[in-house]
Amino acid sequence: MTSPRVITAEPSEGAPERRPEVTTDPAVRAAFEADASGLRLVPDAVARPHAEEEVVAVLRQSAAERTPVTAAGGQTSTTGASVTDRGVLLSLRGLDRIIDVDPVARTARVEAGVLLGDLNRAVAEHGLFFAPDPTSEEECTVGGAVACNASGPRTLCYGATRAHVLALRVALAGGEVIEVRRPGLEKNTAGYALAHDPVDWFVGSEGTLGVVLEAELSLLPQPAQVIGLALPFTTEPDALAFIVAAREAAASLGIRCLEYLDRDALGIARAAVGGEGLPAAGALVYAEAMNVGDVEPPLDAWLALAERQQARADDVRAFEGEPALRIARRLRHAVPAYMNERGAAYRAAGGRKVSTDWAVPFRRLAEAIALARQIALRRAAAPPVVYGHAGNGHPHQNFIARDADELSRTEAAVEETLRAVLAMGGTVSAEHGIGKLKRRWLPLQMIPVQLAAMRAVKRELDPHGLLAPGNVL
Ligand SMILES: Cc1cc2nc3c(=O)[nH]c(=O)nc-3n(C[C@H](O)[C@H](O)[C@H](O)COP(=O)(O)OP(=O)(O)OC[C@H]3O[C@@H](n4cnc5c(N)ncnc54)[C@H](O)[C@@H]3O)c2cc1C
Repeated sequence: MTSPRVITAEPSEGAPERRPEVTTDPAVRAAFEADASGLRLVPDAVARPHAEEEVVAVLRQSAAERTPVTAAGGQTSTTGASVTDRGVLLSLRGLDRIIDVDPVARTARVEAGVLLGDLNRAVAEHGLFFAPDPTSEEECTVGGAVACNASGPRTLCYGATRAHVLALRVALAGGEVIEVRRPGLEKNTAGYALAHDPVDWFVGSEGTLGVVLEAELSLLPQPAQVIGLALPFTTEPDALAFIVAAREAAASLGIRCLEYLDRDALGIARAAVGGEGLPAAGALVYAEAMNVGDVEPPLDAWLALAERQQARADDVRAFEGEPALRIARRLRHAVPAYMNERGAAYRAAGGRKVSTDWAVPFRRLAEAIALARQIALRRAAAPPVVYGHAGNGHPHQNFIARDADELSRTEAAVEETLRAVLAMGGTVSAEHGIGKLKRRWLPLQMIPVQLAAMRAVKRELDPHGLLAPGNVL
């Protein structure tokens, strides 16, 4: 199939239309009022469908009554994209079937509410995996990952979610269901590129263009061997220079990921395991090396590079085998999880966690981080913890603003940083999307005609603006 196929989802003849309960119970509404962003918005009602027809029924009713609907998966959004105080919160968690795994074609067809962790456990028995790996994979859904175009540490090697979506089944604002599949053409000059592949409209649309019901995903064969390496450095500039050198030698190193933890982030990760497994240091790079073809992960090349780049070679730790790699992933996940918890503790005082998601071309990362630190200091923002996907030029700065004043100083520092990042050829959001919290920064990056083109697509697919109001635009 080379063009989007439209399927109208009528209820089967004689069968009563399946409607999920749309509840206004305060306890249920409160259960869906928060995501990982620190924003709290209580929905007017909550719908928890278990089947496509129920999603369609909610959307039809919403269109008839002009009630907004915001889709939600695991609610791990860091931008307030999955919470709303306007209309119905539509939780897709009940659509949780793994419909089909084809080990020969290396594809999986799944409903939107399947957790990424469950998907990976299901396909592991075939020696396969779904490559995008947000560190929240045990809490976030396929629908959410598609809607945010989520990425993660391994994106450095495999690309973000967009690259792994083959087809989508989507319910539009009025309840019409369409199925869109990538055209698979090697050449195509028919019309504007933005209309060539409707799969791309929905990937990264943050719930604003349609509700993802099912996704057909491509899977990859698991590498024969992966070794995790924790490489400690005395200073941040040394660690960041190592990252550039490793990327430049990528072809010979079998790099799977290149993650960075500054001194404070490393302290959080070490505390999560009682100091075990990771050395204390001024900065740490966590890398994964995998086999290159039939050749084992080139550990000697990694260690030689580490030594040349001033790593504390005697303190390098290796994580070998799936249980050890799981511990390494847990250490890395501990940092955002801890920061989210700390941020929540200051909500009553008007504070919260502020997290950046900017990225720059990777060679400019050291310059960008140094500048961001200076700006935060000068503006008396909360001191940032810096960690993340440095191999992609993509760190997260997490600030814990303890009250409303510190929050406003921190946001001013972030805005100044984003302007500098854009001047370096960067982006204001590399993987978490825009949601509600980063909306005011989108016009810094896009010229008016780009925003107008996005609004035109939104108007065409959702003329009454009912889907995920307040996200992105
Ligand atoms: C500790 C932690 C670590 C994280 N690490 C990473 C990381 O490494 N990389 C990364 O990219 N992200 C990361 N995230 C962010 C987040 O987990 C991902 O973006 C995730 O993919 C969101 O999935 P979800 O199911 O939680 O979606 P939700 O938070 O529920 O929703 C996110 C957005 O998707 C929309 N949406 C959800 N389901 C659907 C659907 N079925 N149809 C249409 N729209 C839908 C919502 O409206 C919203 O706009 C992290 C978050 C946390 C808390």
